[in-house]
Amino acid sequence: MTVLVTGGAGYIGSHAVQRLLRDGERVVALDNEFRGHAKAMQLLSQAHPGKLTYVKADINDRTKVLATMDDHGVHTVMHFAALAYVGESVSQPLNYYHNNVSGLISVLAACDAARVPVQKFVFSSSCATYGQPPANMIPVPETCPQSPVSPYGWTKLHGEHILRDFAAARANAGNPIALTMLRYFNVAGSDHTGLIGEDHTPETHMIPVVLQAALGLRSEVGIFGTDYPTPDGTCIRDYVHVEDLIDAHVLAMAKVKPGTPAAYNVGIGKGYSVREIIDATRKVTDRQFKIVEQPRRPGDPPMLYNDSRKISSELGWKAKFTDLHEIIGTAWRWFQKHPQGYRS
Ligand code: UDP
Repeated sequence: MTVLVTGGAGYIGSHAVQRLLRDGERVVALDNEFRGHAKAMQLLSQAHPGKLTYVKADINDRTKVLATMDDHGVHTVMHFAALAYVGESVSQPLNYYHNNVSGLISVLAACDAARVPVQKFVFSSSCATYGQPPANMIPVPETCPQSPVSPYGWTKLHGEHILRDFAAARANAGNPIALTMLRYFNVAGSDHTGLIGEDHTPETHMIPVVLQAALGLRSEVGIFGTDYPTPDGTCIRDYVHVEDLIDAHVLAMAKVKPGTPAAYNVGIGKGYSVREIIDATRKVTDRQFKIVEQPRRPGDPPMLYNDSRKISSELGWKAKFTDLHEIIGTAWRWFQKHPQGYRS
């Protein structure tokens, strides 16, 4: 049995590939290298000789996706391949719908057309599907109304609806699929061994931006909004370590039953403010950098953190990394060794 990891050369996908290889699974990773890194695949292949197949292809190339499934006897798909910048989705909505929605349909069509139809599917969804949750829904449970405020959030919500209909059709046809939708909060940190890590161009995420400033690669860090209704006036987010996130995928793959689609939030259940991220980064790195208070970034909800009760009671998931310093520490080790990402 082989697991297909779409977007396998990306930040989160490559951590999934690494974990599955460590667990002894056969893995085929597929990536179009638009934002993924062939170098990550090379490093993981070297670390696990003969266990990883890497296919450079776009998920919208249905023929190639189907051939990959048939060639390798794919039983499970972890679908990470997507565009994932909220701001970019506002200026390039069609690109986002093409990659994230049409791309998903292409992969699902291949799942059905495969010689042995795919039996398990784990989908990367997002807390962006909730938009701005009402104050009485924070921490955010899975029952929170889903009302995205960005094209990116909509692509993920459309994805969830498509998947539910797909799973229902499969069940009606007597071939139920085990479907899990994982709604990620803010993913952070790097592989604890330091082999692979986070390398985005452009980099806009809070923790990598602050670490780049600590390395002197940026002259300053902007705080986007200091007048939010939060204790220190800056936005609060739930930062889940990438290895804990992947643990949720592995548990979903093992535990979710065919025919009953499941959705879980993945976040540690604790929020940290932008100022807390900056303070913790100063402590971890022992470096100083310039901070500039800036206006709010459009579309940023003041406070988002997870109610993790459902995933912990139903899947037995528990974050191993709950200390912000530790999470930032794993990312710092990677950035120190690879200030230019995979190019260095
Ligand atoms: N943020 C910031 N400065 C930056 C990048 C991010 O103040 O240079 C804030 C952003 O406004 C948000 C939080 O940090 O409140 C997390 O942003 P990120 O882009 O990492 O993730 P998002 O929550 O948008 O998915």
